[in-house]
Amino acid sequence: MLLGWLLLAAGASDAAGPRWSDLAATVFHNYGRDQGLPHPVPTALAQDRDGFIWIGTQGGLARWDGYRFHSYKADPTKPGSLHDDWIQLLHVDRAGRLWVGGGAAGLARYHAARDRFVPVPIGPTEGRIHIGAIADDGRGGLWIGSDDGLRHLDPARGTVRPTTFPPAPVRALLREARGALWVGTTRGLWRRAAGATAFAPVPLPKGATGVGALFQDGDGRIWVGTLRRGLLVIDPTGTAPRPIGGEAILSTGSVSTISAAGPHEIWAGLRGNGIASVDTATGRVRLIRHDRSVANSLAHNDVWALLRDRAGSLWVGSTGGLSYHPRTAGLISTILASPGQAGGLSASDPLSLLATRDGRLWLGYLDGGVDLVDPAGGRIAALRPGTSLPPDVVFAMAEAEDGSVHIGTRRGLYHADRLGRAARLVTIAGRDPHAAVTALAHDAGILWVGGDDSGLLGVAPATGRVIFRPRLADGGIAVIRRGKGNDLWIGSRNGLYRLDLATRAVEHIAPDPADAAALPGRFVVALLVDRQGRLWAGTFGGGLGVMTGRGADGRPRFRKIGVAQGLPHANVDSLQMDGAGTIWAGTDDGLARIDPATLAVRALRQADGSALIDYFAGAGATSATGEALFGAKGGVTIVRPGRLPHWTLQPPLVITDLRVGGVSVPVASFNRGTSIGPLTLTPEGNSLAVEFAALDFTAPERNRYAYRLDGFDRDWTETDANRRLAIYTNLPPGDYVLRLRGSNRAGVWAERELSLPVRVMPAWYQRLWFRLAMAVAALLAIVAIVRWRTRYLRDRQADLERQITERTAALRAANDRLGQLAMTDPLTGCANRRHFMARAEELIAAAQRDGQPLSLAILDLDEFKQVNDHHGHPGGDAVLARTGRTILDQAAPGEVAGRIGGEEFALLMPNTGLADARRRAEQLREAIGAGSVEIDGERIAVTTSMGVARLGRGDDFSRLYARADAALYTAKDGGRNRVELVPPAE
Ligand code: GH3
Ligand code: MG
Ligand code: MG
Repeated sequence: MLLGWLLLAAGASDAAGPRWSDLAATVFHNYGRDQGLPHPVPTALAQDRDGFIWIGTQGGLARWDGYRFHSYKADPTKPGSLHDDWIQLLHVDRAGRLWVGGGAAGLARYHAARDRFVPVPIGPTEGRIHIGAIADDGRGGLWIGSDDGLRHLDPARGTVRPTTFPPAPVRALLREARGALWVGTTRGLWRRAAGATAFAPVPLPKGATGVGALFQDGDGRIWVGTLRRGLLVIDPTGTAPRPIGGEAILSTGSVSTISAAGPHEIWAGLRGNGIASVDTATGRVRLIRHDRSVANSLAHNDVWALLRDRAGSLWVGSTGGLSYHPRTAGLISTILASPGQAGGLSASDPLSLLATRDGRLWLGYLDGGVDLVDPAGGRIAALRPGTSLPPDVVFAMAEAEDGSVHIGTRRGLYHADRLGRAARLVTIAGRDPHAAVTALAHDAGILWVGGDDSGLLGVAPATGRVIFRPRLADGGIAVIRRGKGNDLWIGSRNGLYRLDLATRAVEHIAPDPADAAALPGRFVVALLVDRQGRLWAGTFGGGLGVMTGRGADGRPRFRKIGVAQGLPHANVDSLQMDGAGTIWAGTDDGLARIDPATLAVRALRQADGSALIDYFAGAGATSATGEALFGAKGGVTIVRPGRLPHWTLQPPLVITDLRVGGVSVPVASFNRGTSIGPLTLTPEGNSLAVEFAALDFTAPERNRYAYRLDGFDRDWTETDANRRLAIYTNLPPGDYVLRLRGSNRAGVWAERELSLPVRVMPAWYQRLWFRLAMAVAALLAIVAIVRWRTRYLRDRQADLERQITERTAALRAANDRLGQLAMTDPLTGCANRRHFMARAEELIAAAQRDGQPLSLAILDLDEFKQVNDHHGHPGGDAVLARTGRTILDQAAPGEVAGRIGGEEFALLMPNTGLADARRRAEQLREAIGAGSVEIDGERIAVTTSMGVARLGRGDDFSRLYARADAALYTAKDGGRNRVELVPPAE
């Protein structure tokens, strides 16, 4: 099954028809070794079922995908490589198999699924056989013609059946649609009718013995290419071949190959003479030939092979390389300047064009001179530079009412008759006759002459008298065009002028960068008035502006059409309106079509038939038949009015290169969807690189692509022709589908997309058992971690609790100590004065409340000053400390000992009457007196005097204290080291 080729575009041939047909060039793209062809001489061509173009050369085989020639070379050391570098013949059979006929090594079949060549032995002369022709037999088998006769090959069984026929080397085979088999040999032509077993000779015209090519066209005609008598044709009704073409070249030439070129066009490839294009409707023959001066002409006149691909484009293999002629709609033709060719343009740079009312085209050249061209024939006259005209630029031409033509050159104005004869210099009163004339127009009996620096003049053509001399700010005039009413529009280097022919008023319209609706550029080189009467101004640098009307202030308003609107270049050189009212613009980067209703722009290129790119400013004309004509570097573009069809070809999308883990994989089974399983990626080679191409060869650089790996990519990745590669690495194991989409050159996406199933195998560590083991291990690890963590947290909590307890206890102890410190005298350990007094008041209050006795003893160390004096203050302190300890030791439970002054202490004795208190005081005095302290080896002992008083009824501490203190003084006075009592005051 063939992939979805859909040809909706109308027409197929771009032969110009009778008009321009002798001049219009068949423009080719030429490919050679520089573009990657393995050998410069292609000898065989075929298109396979996937849509690839195969090119057999004298030095290898190549496959073309629109971007790259993928080469195959013979290599005896590599099994499966090409069997023979010299390819004689390529044949794609009805089953889609590609057969390769070698020049010496016989026949091989291309095994697409494995991308290998398989030699097919066809007889005893195996390996040394010259294959001349191959034809399908209509039942899956092949007829193979060689130097030693005709064979039948049954590829299914692999059997070869030789025949004894014919008696001469076979050069051409044709199986008719109705079943008849034609055999062309070096010695004649034979035909075997359908169902018959015998071959009957077909009589050929005298001298035409050898047959090199056979072809049946869509109308059933048999075309016979002879080895010496050119092309013959046998009509379906007749049997006798008749010669084609009056051309000597054709009737004597050697035809190597024949192909259909369009519905009514046959191309015959000639040895040494290019291509003969035959219009089957009219019988007219046109030669397509190599022209050394034209880069886009046929690569060479020695033609070996022809192929019309499924898109209708033509491929030519010649000694000069591979030539490609894309199928176009036939609306646009190109006359390529080929100065060497008789009847062609005599120079390459037509700078000014004039279409005269009699249907002729006048071409004025950059290097001087003018050609008169008849669309039906060719050049009919020429005004040579240096003889009829000055050898200098022809800027402008205008046709007078009588059909004569004014020619503006850099060296003055000339006038010639309607046949280009009798050219003479024109003198205008008051104008330098040799000053440049850059723009011309004939209108209503006035010849308008624009100069480079001499301004604009309106002249009476008959007399040369100046009628108009409008004042323009700048003299550099590029174009003059008559508008509506009395308007004469003048494009200049300094903007646009409108001359009112009635009032003679001049309006200057200048660009204004700050105003979006102003004239878009200063240098106005092209002017046009459309069917709505709107003025179109083409500028240099600013694109074009369509005058839409005037603003409230009267200023002209323009709608700008620039590069942003799709114009190919901001330099608009020429504006023409074809017979259908469509606007065409020649720019510095190709041709553009502008819809006058919508102002939509469509840029046109070689694939659209527009081969020229660099248009000349002011070089344009519209013919009487409505053709828009443009002068460009290298020739003339002719646009016929008509609907320019949209390009709707749906090209097949194919994989052109496939690498898995960096290793090349044959692509055919994936392109054909015949792959048994998915493409498998192993863990060791987990990378996928897929190169693809949409096989629209007409302008492959404009094809667009998109891809998406289902199961991996979320969205489509859109790319252009420069990035036809989808790369994936380290895909997770699983099943995927790589989907590919391609568009034609107009961005129309093919409905059919290519799907490549991909399976990524898991590595051992990605397999199920390993994963389960890993999962269990992970689970165990998690459990262990949770446990450990729980314990850790628990331990930590206990630890914290313990710490808190400890710290609380420590804090409590510290608090206690603090409290103690606050209550205790640090030197002696007794209660300090403040605490002692507080305790005393409490105990006194309790004693008063309970009616219990309470006594207070106050004691003062005797002669303590002397201790200090003899032993220093530290010695005194030691004695004080010792004394305090003794008092504390002596104090009974419930009693409170306090230090109430420097060396004064007190002991409070609850529940103690005076007698008991005295006894307790005596014990204490003795204990103090018995103790001693050693300082610096010296024993120090002190005595103490004590006063004791008992709490009286109604006593408070101060009164109790005062009485005890009085008793103490008594003891001191009494000689010290004694206890004195004070009875309670009643
Ligand atoms: P008396 O027998 O009359 O009491 O004679 P005395 O020397 O003890 O005389 P008094 O009681 O008037 O003097 C007390 C002396 O005690 C005065 C002072 O130098 C000394 N003193 C008071 N507080 C301290 C102390 O904290 N440490 C030392 N080392 N000496 C003190
Ligand atoms: Mg004292
Ligand atoms: Mg004292």
